[in-house]
Amino acid sequence: MIKPPHEVVFLTSEIYPFSKSGGLADVMGILPLALARLGLRVAVITPFYGRLSTGQYSVRLVMENCPVGYPWFDTTADIYQADYHGVPVYFIDRAEYFDRRQYYCTHKGDYFDNGERFIFFCRAALSAIRHLNMGARIVHAQDWHAGLAMAYLAFWRRTDPYWAGVRTVMSIHNLAYQGRFSYRLFEESNLPLEAWNMEGVEFYNSFNLLKAGIAYADKITTVSPSYAREIMTPEFGCGLEGILTRRKNDLVGILNGADYSIWSPANDPVLECTYSAVDPSGKRACKMNLLRVMGLSDVLLDRPIFGFIGRLREQKGIDIVLEIIPELMKLDVGLVVLGEGGAEFESALLAIMEDYLGRIEAIIGYTEEMSHVIQAGTDIFLMPSRYEPCGLTQMYSLSYGTPPVATAVGGLRDTIIPYPQPGANGFVFSDITSESLLNSARQAVQVWEDRETWQRIVVNAMEANFSWEKSGHQYIDVYRSLHKDILI
Ligand code: ADP
Repeated sequence: MIKPPHEVVFLTSEIYPFSKSGGLADVMGILPLALARLGLRVAVITPFYGRLSTGQYSVRLVMENCPVGYPWFDTTADIYQADYHGVPVYFIDRAEYFDRRQYYCTHKGDYFDNGERFIFFCRAALSAIRHLNMGARIVHAQDWHAGLAMAYLAFWRRTDPYWAGVRTVMSIHNLAYQGRFSYRLFEESNLPLEAWNMEGVEFYNSFNLLKAGIAYADKITTVSPSYAREIMTPEFGCGLEGILTRRKNDLVGILNGADYSIWSPANDPVLECTYSAVDPSGKRACKMNLLRVMGLSDVLLDRPIFGFIGRLREQKGIDIVLEIIPELMKLDVGLVVLGEGGAEFESALLAIMEDYLGRIEAIIGYTEEMSHVIQAGTDIFLMPSRYEPCGLTQMYSLSYGTPPVATAVGGLRDTIIPYPQPGANGFVFSDITSESLLNSARQAVQVWEDRETWQRIVVNAMEANFSWEKSGHQYIDVYRSLHKDILI
């Protein structure tokens, strides 16, 4: 029997629950499932990391020694597969590239061979599509790690009938991470020399893998409508605003959704007590639990606690959070931080905790379970990002009845209705300074003290619904613009 082709094959460097370092993993853990539910035949290809969490999913070898031809003529990869709720996920295994403690870096910095690792990934993924007869009609690449696949396909389909009908989509989850390498890697990549120019893969004399995706994909998407507009400006374009503007007719912003099977306080197995917009009373038990597990003072039960979860990077505004702590603490509030990242921010947090025993607690590290406990147990979520392609943590905080205080950028602008607008579910501010953050946090505390208004905001937050079904339809529209008969 001839197997029907996969309409869309995703190439991604992360997919929850197998691997995760941030929002990309969450999106890949749910978007393919949402599309499959809408009737599309999809598959995902991702690296087989040493740290892969296979959990309940059994992973089996489906092809040994799949020819890759990069970096050496005879280099191969082994391909494994798991069934992820009906969606096949293929893992590219080559231990020297992916069997490491971390995905991309150590605390000293990026792995020296990241360029080679992800060029290899792209080449191996395309080879797997061919040798496993996946029959992809659309190859959908995520972020710089998969960007080069767009360039390979653009050139290969000119001469190779196997790829002639394949169309490509590049999704940008964060434009700041571009994967820039040396000309030497370009030479070794086997792309034709004509790709080395300003409209191609070259970026100020470096080999830019995200730009390769932007230049050669048939369509480009990013993860919120506001970010799609912002990245065409010098302020947010990270140097790629020119090429993005030239491609604006092919650029679409599609808001991410939240996976409410994982991020809903009504059915979250990690919580002390479940709750919902109809009966939010269980949130207090979650707050008591948070105080207990974090060793915070009991007096905070009747005062607001701020939460922060995310990468400790300037992007996330952790520096301005640190700056306002002395003034924030004068409001008689608590603060819980969960994150890892910049060593200077990690040590500043650990130091300031000592000055506010029982009022500030920080966990430096990555723990999925605690992220749920904090979302449920805090009252106000801090998210003063300098830019935010979409942001998922604010969607989760809304779901857990923890209204965000956030900057009016990117996906934060598209998901938060700021107080005092009708239907408000959070607080936003425009200029990204510690003064504005403090003013907005003060406003949130003031409103928190007005119990009736606060309760309304909490309910509005919990009722917000960022469904993947809606976003899924928008992705299908993009696919259909490339292959009219998709899903028919
Ligand atoms: P980004 O992808 O820019 O890091 P998002 O808000 O889109 O930010 O997604 C971040 C995801 O990573 C969320 O699922 C969040 O809960 C999770 N996360 C971030 N830092 C941590 C941490 N230290 N521990 C547990 N989960 C974390």
